[in-house]
Amino acid sequence: MKHVPEPFKIKTVEPIKMTTLEYREKAIREAGYNTFLLKSKDVFIDLLTDSGTSAMSDAQWAALQMGDEAYAGSRNFYELEETVRDVYGYKYFVPTHQGRAAEHIMSKLLIKPDDRVPGNMFFTTTRLHQELAGGTFVDVIVDEAHDTTSELPFKGNVDLAKMQRLVDEVGADRVPYVSYETCVNMAGGQPISIANLKELRAFCDKYNIKIMLDNTRTIENAYFIQKREPGYADKSVKEIVKEICSYTDGCTCSAKKDGLVNIGGFLAMNDEDFFVAAKGEVVIYEGLHTYGGMSGRDMAALAQGIRESVETDDYIRYRVEQTNYLGELLTEAGVPHVVPHGGHAIFLDARRFLPHIDQEQFPAQSLAAAIYVETGVRTMERGNVSSGRDPETGKNRQPALELVRLTIPRRVYTQSHMDFTAEGIIRLYKQRNKINGLKFVFEPKVLRFFQARFEELTTATTPQAHLSIE
Ligand SMILES: *Cc1c(COP(=O)(O)O)cnc(C)c1O
Repeated sequence: MKHVPEPFKIKTVEPIKMTTLEYREKAIREAGYNTFLLKSKDVFIDLLTDSGTSAMSDAQWAALQMGDEAYAGSRNFYELEETVRDVYGYKYFVPTHQGRAAEHIMSKLLIKPDDRVPGNMFFTTTRLHQELAGGTFVDVIVDEAHDTTSELPFKGNVDLAKMQRLVDEVGADRVPYVSYETCVNMAGGQPISIANLKELRAFCDKYNIKIMLDNTRTIENAYFIQKREPGYADKSVKEIVKEICSYTDGCTCSAKKDGLVNIGGFLAMNDEDFFVAAKGEVVIYEGLHTYGGMSGRDMAALAQGIRESVETDDYIRYRVEQTNYLGELLTEAGVPHVVPHGGHAIFLDARRFLPHIDQEQFPAQSLAAAIYVETGVRTMERGNVSSGRDPETGKNRQPALELVRLTIPRRVYTQSHMDFTAEGIIRLYKQRNKINGLKFVFEPKVLRFFQARFEELTTATTPQAHLSIE
């Protein structure tokens, strides 16, 4: 297996703790079988999320010292505005404390009650803000995105026939914008193609519908386009990023992902009226429009992070290929997971991993808990728990995809951490019949996956000594 070497050397280290199987069994029980409720100190390799978990470069740490903490007109704001314009190409920019704050402001301004908001699959916070603004999310992603075995190279694409059906059914005036996500998170980090985006642009121009980009992972998506889409092999990732944005009317962005920082986000657009309205909202919910929800030093680190991520293609190649390396190890061992491999994460297919557990007993949640106990690696459920209940029927949504996400933080772990993770999961796969389903003992009303607590359905068989990693 080929591994692209890490294009950096390590200057500061953070020790991580190895624990025993017994220790981890107790820890997961106390966390209600919810990996979100584990203490970070009890985790060996943390693949919960790639959100805000990036390692910053020496240049970013230096940039922090250059924070201008003026309440109004911080020089870091202008630096970040210029960087966003240079890399993403949008005319106007409003900083927010993270992505969901940008989603909140955008949804509030663009959605009217009873509107439909088509999107290439839902994202948890994105859909919630659409619903809070009175809209209804409509999934218009290609069918293959819901099939974990389809090898389509651009499984994030929008199905134009689904767009047409929606417009015919409700009328274009009830569709304020398409929420278009790059490297679709809930589909397994699957990219969109420029060809699809161009087609969608033509469709939206015909019906006067905006395209609002979820810009959270556009840089990763651009790498896939360079690698897979005809005509893009010789373009730089930076050029491709700008081209993607050029077909859209604006974006929301969680800078905690591609941006290589621990906190931050923004809203950007080309329309001046929308910009003026967004500045009016940001001052209510976040802060003055020249800092949003960020400190000056946060904006300085983000500007540097965005520049680094596209300066050469070396970083992003290593980043996406490291994820692929982990996926290939699992492929060789026959562990069921989503293919092709996404940019930020490998998604185990819990339905196929644990066919003996009914979806109402939360196979992905059970698998994430079992992986922690077996290996000390923390992962995240992306299935029936994350998807929540249908507001109309009150029933669990039972999404087609019942996944466990192994999310790779940027520039944090090395090849040997990937090897260790794969070995542990392969070991667990060989004894998958021992894993039990779960039931709720506490179920929050919204975004329940964050704080829900569970109990194991039947008492687990006593784990044998050889299951331990020690
Ligand atoms: C993380 C994420 C968000 C929300 O951003 P936060 O910074 O966590 O608020 C929105 N969309 C996608 C695709 C994301 O991955």
